[in-house]
Amino acid sequence: MDLPPTDPIISSSLATVYSVLMGLLVGSFLNVAIHRLPTEGESIFKPLRSRCPKCRTTLTWYENIPVLSWLVLFGRCRTCRSSIHWRYPLVEILTALLFWVAADSFMGDTTHIAIVALVLSGLLVATFVDLDCYEIPDEVSLGGCVLAPLLSFLVPRLHELDLDRFSALGECLLGMAVGGGILYFIGWLGTKVYRVDAMGLGDVKLAAAGGGFIGASGILYALLVAAILGSLVGILNMLRLYCELRLRVARRNRRDGRLRSLQAARLAGRYIPFGPYLAVGIALSLLGWNDDGALVFQFLLN
Ligand SMILES: [Zn+2]
Repeated sequence: MDLPPTDPIISSSLATVYSVLMGLLVGSFLNVAIHRLPTEGESIFKPLRSRCPKCRTTLTWYENIPVLSWLVLFGRCRTCRSSIHWRYPLVEILTALLFWVAADSFMGDTTHIAIVALVLSGLLVATFVDLDCYEIPDEVSLGGCVLAPLLSFLVPRLHELDLDRFSALGECLLGMAVGGGILYFIGWLGTKVYRVDAMGLGDVKLAAAGGGFIGASGILYALLVAAILGSLVGILNMLRLYCELRLRVARRNRRDGRLRSLQAARLAGRYIPFGPYLAVGIALSLLGWNDDGALVFQFLLN
């Protein structure tokens, strides 16, 4: 049987539609993982069907369609009318967008796209769990540390085209050592200087896993992006907290208001989760944007 010649434009738009649909489905599953991984006694597959977190009613298939169900139900549970967080459709849309970019970046290389999509999914889960509970689930970070060497050996072109298996494995292990090592050192320095746990072990494990997929230069770029993003958000957060607290203390007519609000803001600023920024850096490098990023840095330096 003769197959009709495929039009490159049609096949690329088919790939786009497919990756976006896959992203929406996977995103809906990631929501379950984000909700259940940090919860004691629940696992991703138990119970099998999704439930409303408030009234525990099992959701029907039409209440479970990514993004659409949320829109149709105006962000409320059909049974108990309690509101469903906008984070659910956001995670689904983000996953779809990332899968689309992944499919576009590694056009035609299905294995590569699938692995990148898997790593991006892990990063999304790490980000939202860290924002919620200030921890990164071991399922993601340690899982990545196990998968990275395995996949690097099986698919060496994850690191570079025309790389042999053992060189790819070497690149992976070096990336893990550099990523995990730098964050472990910063954490160690923090405990010496500030006598507080400055860096969670979860971040160390996530950096090691990320380094395994993007190599040493990739993880250095990711750490730089994370440090810049983290500082920017940290400064904004402290300013916001300072203003808020100042207002509150001023209402109570306290003399030492300025100092107290500054102290509180500083203290709060210490507990900014680093995982999300690290995840953004790893994702950018994974999608090959560090080459463009390097150009931007060069431009800024000149
Ligand atoms: Zn409900």
